[in-house]
Amino acid sequence: MIFIGGISQGQKILNYVKTVICDRCGAYGRYQVMMTYMYFSFFFIPLFKWNKKFYVKMSCCEAVYELNPEKGKALARGQQVDITQSDLTLVQEGNRRSTYENGAYKVWKKCVRCGYETEEDFEYCPKCGGRL
Ligand SMILES: [Zn+2]
Ligand SMILES: [Zn+2]
Repeated sequence: MIFIGGISQGQKILNYVKTVICDRCGAYGRYQVMMTYMYFSFFFIPLFKWNKKFYVKMSCCEAVYELNPEKGKALARGQQVDITQSDLTLVQEGNRRSTYENGAYKVWKKCVRCGYETEEDFEYCPKCGGRL
């Protein structure tokens, strides 16, 4: 088969550094901004891109948010932007979260395989044996 042209999905990590207290797990985390897009390539040369979407992934617990596209586009153009919580819509829960109960924070670990949540500091999921 000779490959001439095709449509693929690409992903790019944008240069953005901000440290915040994560609103999901309560730890310090960094925003990692990613852009995904579809592109058409011809002889391996990407010709045009469309359907750009921007996501923010937390470095602490891997929660994923969809980023306000206006902010994402500005960032992709190399402009200075400030991403705040109001630009983010949660699309995927992270592998930890914290709750505030009786005056203390509790950190819950969540199994990515089966969704089991525990407040114990287990290394492996008691339900399915997956790594927490
Ligand atoms: Zn987090
Ligand atoms: Zn599990």
